Amino acid sequence: MITLADYFMNREKQYAAELTEELRVNAGVVVARANLLLSRAGLRRGVNSGWRPAAVNATIENAARNSKHVQCLAIDINDDDDALDAWCMANPRALEELGLWLEHPAATPRWCHLQTAPYGSWAPGKPRYFQP
Ligand SMILES: [Zn+2]
Repeated sequence: MITLADYFMNREKQYAAELTEELRVNAGVVVARANLLLSRAGLRRGVNSGWRPAAVNATIENAARNSKHVQCLAIDINDDDDALDAWCMANPRALEELGLWLEHPAATPRWCHLQTAPYGSWAPGKPRYFQP
């Protein structure tokens, strides 16, 4: 099971001033939904990338400047064998029920990016996955 401590990656101390109550609430939601998804998929996985304070996000190659990780609305889960990505693609209904959106597996080779906020062009009826 993924914990909030896993999600914060020890950044809650160094970047304490940035970690607002809103972000803590967001983090609780994304971690809870990720755990529910892992439970449904029957998989155990750890966190590849959780909260990214803006200064951390800026150092990550190819990370979007407005990454959902900055607002604690996204989580990258370890997925070396792509089993979680494959399960998500095969079970879009689960993503819908849990309020999650998936970055397309082609863009996430060793991890699974899930977010609790829709991608920019999403509307009801559109896929739960998106291309970065
Ligand atoms: Zn991500």
